[in-house]
Amino acid sequence: MNLAALSFFGQEALADGRTIGELLPFVTIPGKTTNGSSRWAGKFGTGVDQERDIDVVRTPTGDESGGSVYSIHDVTEHTQISHNREQLLYSVAHELRGSLSVMDNVLGMLFIDYPPLSKEEHLHLMQLAIGTATRLRRLMENLLSAGNIQSGRFQVDPKVTLLPRITDEAIDAVVATFDARNQHILSDGLDREVPVMADRRYIVQVLANLLMNASKYSPEGADVRLGVDRLNDQVRVTVEDAGQGIPVERLSGLFERFYRARPEGEEPGVGLGLAIVKGIVRAHNGTVGVESEVGVGSRFWFTLPLG
Ligand code: ADP
Repeated sequence: MNLAALSFFGQEALADGRTIGELLPFVTIPGKTTNGSSRWAGKFGTGVDQERDIDVVRTPTGDESGGSVYSIHDVTEHTQISHNREQLLYSVAHELRGSLSVMDNVLGMLFIDYPPLSKEEHLHLMQLAIGTATRLRRLMENLLSAGNIQSGRFQVDPKVTLLPRITDEAIDAVVATFDARNQHILSDGLDREVPVMADRRYIVQVLANLLMNASKYSPEGADVRLGVDRLNDQVRVTVEDAGQGIPVERLSGLFERFYRARPEGEEPGVGLGLAIVKGIVRAHNGTVGVESEVGVGSRFWFTLPLG
């Protein structure tokens, strides 16, 4: 056993008389060694965090000893990446299907218009359609940014910007979604003229993601509060909702890609929004955070350097 294998299997692997088949039960030892190579895929270790995906290749030494060399590759990360990719494809397709069927229904009703729609019904249908288009746009922007941020080549170009330019643009981007669910963004009393160092386009995306989440994970008719405060040379922007909240044990991975606090929940989503929030804010030398209580609501915030 080389050192890498020893550290992988641990000391007990050296116990006298143990065979590879005992260490890795899925590896079947042929009765008589053939000249061909064999390959297996399986798991090693127990417990959720300790279980590793491995690939085992057996190559006969080809000499009179009749022995074989087993090379073991730890492919856990690789497996996780392909799993994430599949999951992403599935979630995107799921989102697209949901949005398309809303569009289909709305257009169908507007087209037939029988019995004739009242002004309110008409307005409601238009809000639904625009809200759905907003969701699709967010999804597309998040997918584009995710690749960018992940590549390690992600760069921002922060400039002194007055905060209202960002908050107004983000609110404009999501207002149709809020209207469609009769929700409101409360931003009264904001310190309107704070200058921050921001790459406007990206910080608008950060705030729009947080607002869209606040809408999505809150009931119809709910209020979402936008706050701004200064902390020395930083400005903190807060999005607070009175929605479903997040269980405390699910908070720690929240800003990771593909992480969803309630995977079984009904809300569509791909688990990219908060990872992008973190990636963009970090690139601005800011920090992100969340406080939440189930049934009470959530409070997401990020900081930016004062301009
Ligand atoms: P998505 O919403 O597409 O799943 P995000 O990265 O934006 O992905 O969010 C990750 C997870 O965090 C969500 O699946 C949800 O469980 C939780 N979450 C985010 N924002 C909120 C919120 N305002 N209230 C409750 N849960 C939230």
